[in-house]
Amino acid sequence: MMRWMRKMLLGIFLLLTCLQFAACADLDVHFLDVGQGDAAVLICDGKVMMIDGGKPESSQLIYSYLTNTLGLQHIDCIIASHPHSDHVGGLQAALQACSVDQILTPLYYYNDPVFLRFRDMAAERNLPLTMPLAGTTMPFGGAKVSFLGPYKLFGDTNDNSILMRIEYGTTSFLFTGDAEIPEEQEALDRYPDRLRSTVLKVGHHGSSSSSGAAFLETVRPEIALIGVGVANTYGHPSIGVLTRLHDLGTEIYRTDLHGTIHLTSDGTSVTVQSERTLEDPGSAYTLSWAAFLQSEPVTRPESEYYVGNVKSLRFHLPICEGATKMSEKNRIRFETREEAIEAGYQPCGTCNP
Ligand SMILES: [Zn+2]
Ligand SMILES: [Zn+2]
Repeated sequence: MMRWMRKMLLGIFLLLTCLQFAACADLDVHFLDVGQGDAAVLICDGKVMMIDGGKPESSQLIYSYLTNTLGLQHIDCIIASHPHSDHVGGLQAALQACSVDQILTPLYYYNDPVFLRFRDMAAERNLPLTMPLAGTTMPFGGAKVSFLGPYKLFGDTNDNSILMRIEYGTTSFLFTGDAEIPEEQEALDRYPDRLRSTVLKVGHHGSSSSSGAAFLETVRPEIALIGVGVANTYGHPSIGVLTRLHDLGTEIYRTDLHGTIHLTSDGTSVTVQSERTLEDPGSAYTLSWAAFLQSEPVTRPESEYYVGNVKSLRFHLPICEGATKMSEKNRIRFETREEAIEAGYQPCGTCNP
C-alpha cells in the first residue's frame, strides 16, 4: 500500500514538473542594438535562430552576445534577410562563434565584398545557401515559421528581403528585413490573412519607403521594433512611419533609444524588457526628433497631419507629447503645416513641426 502511494505521489510530482516545464517553454527574441542595422537572436525550446547580424563593425558584439551573454555554441538556422552589409556584416562572427546547421538567404549571389566573404565562410563550412520559397513553412521548436516573401525577385535588393512570420501559440512575430512598399504590396496581395502579428520588426529601419499605411493597418502590431543608429544620417525612422504606428496604438521600441530589446512570448502574450527604459514614451520621440534635426538641419519631413492646441495656439507633430497629452477639447487637426500657420498657430519648440 505504502509503495503504491509513493508511486502515485512520484507520478503526481513528475506530472507537475512536466506541466511546469511546459509552462516555462518560451519563445525569446533578442533584438540587438547594433546601431544602424538589424540583428536578432531567437530561442525556442532549445532551438536557436539568428536573423541578420548588423554591420561588420558589430562582429565583436555579435560574438560576445552569442557566447558570453547567451552561452550558445550552436545555431540551428541563420537567416540573412538580404545581402546588404548592415544585415550580413556581423554574421561572419556568428559562424565563428557557433556551429551552424543551415543558412537561408533570398539570393545566392550579390556583388558586394561583405556578402561574398560571408558566402565564402559558409562554403568553407560546407554550408550551402538555401532560398526559402514564399508560401512554405518550417518548424522552429514549438513555433512555426511561414515564409511570405519574396514571392518574385524585384530589381531593388531591399524588396528581395525574406519576409517571415513566426507563430508561437497565439502570438506572432513578423520579420521584414528591409522590405519596401512593393514587397509589402506583394505580400498584401498574396497573403492578406496571414500578416496580422503581435510584433512587427519594422521594414528598412523605419524608412518612409517602407511601412505603407495599408501594410501597417493589416499587420496591426501591438509592438514595433526598429533597428536604428543614434542620429543616423538617413533620417530613420521617418516621422510618417512613427505617426502611422502611433495612430494604430502600437508600442514602439527602437535600438537607438532603448538599446537591446528582449521579448518573451509564453504563447499567449509578449513581454518586453529593454536595456534602457524611457520613463515617458513622449520623451523618446522628442529625443529622436532632436537627434534628427541635428543630423539634417535643413530638412523638415512632412507629417501626415498636425495637431493644434486651441488654447495655446501652438501646433505639434501628432507624436509629440504636446499632442499626445493634449485634452480632446483643446485639440484641432490641421492637414498641412501651412494650414496651421495660416490659422495663426505657432510651431511647438520641442517637436519643431
Ligand atoms: Zn538595412
Ligand atoms: Zn538593405
